[in-house]
Amino acid sequence: MAYDFDFFVIGAGSGGVRAARFAAGFGARVAIAESRYLGGTCVNVGCVPKKLLAYSAHFEEEFHQANGFGWSHGETDFDWKKLIANKDREILRLNNIYQKLLDDSGATLFEGHARLVDAHTVDLDGRRYTAETILIATGGWPVIPDVPGREHAISSNEAFYLPELPKRMLVIGGGYIAVEFASIFNGLGCKTSLLYRGDLFLRGFDGSLRQHLRDEMLKKGLDLQFNTDIARIDKQADGSLLATLRDGRTLETDCVFYATGRRPMLDDLGLENTAVELNEKGFIKVNEEYRTNEPSILAIGDVIGRVQLTPVAIAEGMAVARRLFRPEEYRPVDYSQIPTAVFSLPNIGTVGMTEEDARMTHDVRIYEARFRPMKLSLTDSQERTLMKLVVDAETHRVLGCHMIGPEAGEIVQGLAVALKAGATKQHFDETIGIHPTAAEEFVTMRTPVRT
Ligand code: NDP
Repeated sequence: MAYDFDFFVIGAGSGGVRAARFAAGFGARVAIAESRYLGGTCVNVGCVPKKLLAYSAHFEEEFHQANGFGWSHGETDFDWKKLIANKDREILRLNNIYQKLLDDSGATLFEGHARLVDAHTVDLDGRRYTAETILIATGGWPVIPDVPGREHAISSNEAFYLPELPKRMLVIGGGYIAVEFASIFNGLGCKTSLLYRGDLFLRGFDGSLRQHLRDEMLKKGLDLQFNTDIARIDKQADGSLLATLRDGRTLETDCVFYATGRRPMLDDLGLENTAVELNEKGFIKVNEEYRTNEPSILAIGDVIGRVQLTPVAIAEGMAVARRLFRPEEYRPVDYSQIPTAVFSLPNIGTVGMTEEDARMTHDVRIYEARFRPMKLSLTDSQERTLMKLVVDAETHRVLGCHMIGPEAGEIVQGLAVALKAGATKQHFDETIGIHPTAAEEFVTMRTPVRT
């Protein structure tokens, strides 16, 4: 049977666009459908605008720090509307770049909602197209738990478009988004509380990082409340919100922001017309080659819930395009040692095993450096940087690198290459430092703090 397209991608986010562009570049007849915004979550309501807001939040402390270096300045003022307008302009620029990349690749872009009609057919707002292979790359969507008054709360989707900067902010959750946005709003001047249901946020991250970040966030004036959760939210006569906690306490705030995880975006996708199955967590079930239970339908990115990170979705998109249309260049995605950053204030950068995980399978040596970065030496900031190496005591291989401090993500990205290459502690020791930098601490740690 002759299909309209070789490859039909649903969702023009990071993963979908990469798959579509590569497939078209390999000579396939490609279509890609998008119902919301080009670039998906990352470009529009995720990584990119979040990082712009985080830069903005950093300036507040940098103005103070500049004083120690001789600079005086007048009253500082912050204009949320201006930040959001400038951010929107930048996002529009990126949307246009995505459009151009797709156009240049030769893929056909359809703006509209795509719905599966059968294993090879997509309905696009009434028009039908067939394809030999269909790729679902529809991403994820924030989840707000079912508490009474949840309609008064926002998620990250709305946080980027708040008409005003709230005076008080209550962030719920303990993952990436919660700690990043609590830091951002605190930095921008909101009186911010973060509520997390467990003992300490960032479950799964290295314990030293979690504790260090908690201490630094407290120093910056954040109200952190652990082992607590919201029971209900009520709107008060003056427009403010009253959050009643499970233990009966109440907190008054202007905005309740839920950052409690993301679900796969499967709304009205027509999966029931296919043999596609979901896994026990509700994400699309795929095999090692991203094939669903319906052989002609594949899925990648947040919708499969494997690792919800943009660069991972991009790698999966490339792998799919290569395997289908340039199999001689196919390489499976390597999910080991994925570096990641949390753009909290201060930033986290991390790659490899946590101390806790490493101890389960290895004898370890732990190296740590804790210091006040040189940039703060002429200021009254008491912020401290943490750098940590988790080393296999037997092979001396570096199993994990963890950092909290300025530009942690920038520093750890380079170290991730070393870990991928199998670097040992000796390689780190034999590497000459760049002086004076914070990063050189990673190659000058000589004595384990514990084994
Ligand atoms: P996460 O899955 O990282 O964290 C969700 C948090 O919400 C956890 O602390 C979880 O607690 C808590 N939680 C879950 N359900 C409830 C509930 N019903 N009531 C109270 N608390 C709850 O999700 P995020 O929303 O922070 O981010 C989604 C994903 O997006 C991340 O996993 C990450 O992969 C990606 N991301 C990456 C970023 C980056 O690379 N810098 C930035 C932002 C997002 P518990 O720990 O107890 O389960």
